[in-house]
Amino acid sequence: MNLAAIPRISLAHLPTPIEPMPRLSAELGGPEIWVKRDDCTGLSTGGNKTRKLEFLMAEAEAAGADMVMTQGATQSNHARQTAAAAAKLGMKCHILLEDRTGSNDPNYISNGNVLLDHLHGATTEIHPGGGDMNAIMEAEADRRRSGGASVYTIPGGGSNPTGAIGYVNAAMELVAQTNDARLSFDRIVHATGSAGTQAGIITGLRAMNAKIPLLGIGVRAPKPKQEANVLALAEATAERIGCAGVVRPQDVTANCDYVGEGYGIPTEGCLEAIRMFAELEGLLLDPVYSAKAAAGLIDLIRTGKFSAGQRVLFWHTGGAVALFGYDKALTA
Ligand SMILES: *Cc1c(COP(=O)(O)O)cnc(C)c1O
Repeated sequence: MNLAAIPRISLAHLPTPIEPMPRLSAELGGPEIWVKRDDCTGLSTGGNKTRKLEFLMAEAEAAGADMVMTQGATQSNHARQTAAAAAKLGMKCHILLEDRTGSNDPNYISNGNVLLDHLHGATTEIHPGGGDMNAIMEAEADRRRSGGASVYTIPGGGSNPTGAIGYVNAAMELVAQTNDARLSFDRIVHATGSAGTQAGIITGLRAMNAKIPLLGIGVRAPKPKQEANVLALAEATAERIGCAGVVRPQDVTANCDYVGEGYGIPTEGCLEAIRMFAELEGLLLDPVYSAKAAAGLIDLIRTGKFSAGQRVLFWHTGGAVALFGYDKALTA
């Protein structure tokens, strides 16, 4: 593994801090809970996609692209961070937004991440939910290529081996920080969606033989599908960085019990988690990803799956901009 040899553009404020959450830990009465602040990666309010975009945008530049195209749900944090990265690098950005929730709330449709997509100069088009969005995007990219544009496509969530390298790098950052601080964690917990974050972290941890178990809390797919997606991407990522075979099936664990009705539909637990983190730690979670992961963590602590004496790291992946698309759920 030699990440320094892989093209990369610096976009994120790194390393992100690791901080204790003493009031949340005391409230739950279980393990000591800490947070890795990837909500503070800096680009257009930050979030986990910025780490992936450091490698993806370098590939786009190397390919001579004048436009990047990507896709995501209406309130996609990935779309917003891609739009910002493209703006910073002087590339055009076109985004296909998929209506996965059917919400008619004007704030959901045009505030939050959508407002920022447009502020960063991206163009958007809206599609109904349920299509093969990566395939629809590739067709649109081909259409523009035949008109002479040089388009670089980024899959949903930036989750391909190139994007996942951002989280291999993040795993190395984490291990260096915990070594320096002599801080040992019994478990890392984070939200898993398009799988690149979990695939990258597990690949990095396994490549270093760092024995910190990783638990992804799912936000969309059922457990078997989520774990298969993460494993396949981790295997491809490991191969890409010259560490083929380091990730084993038993290294990939997802808990998909906290999705609720579906992707992007808030649950009681997720709304409670948003309030707890906000009121006890001054931290902002989002209803689609980080709060569903936090709801899982809170429930696993309450049901005794983590105990006092353990130390757990909640990897905050960002997303608070989406709160402005979900204000009704929080003020009702
Ligand atoms: C995209 C996203 C995730 C999930 O990361 P994946 O790499 O898609 O699994 C988690 N949290 C937030 C806030 C996100 O935007």
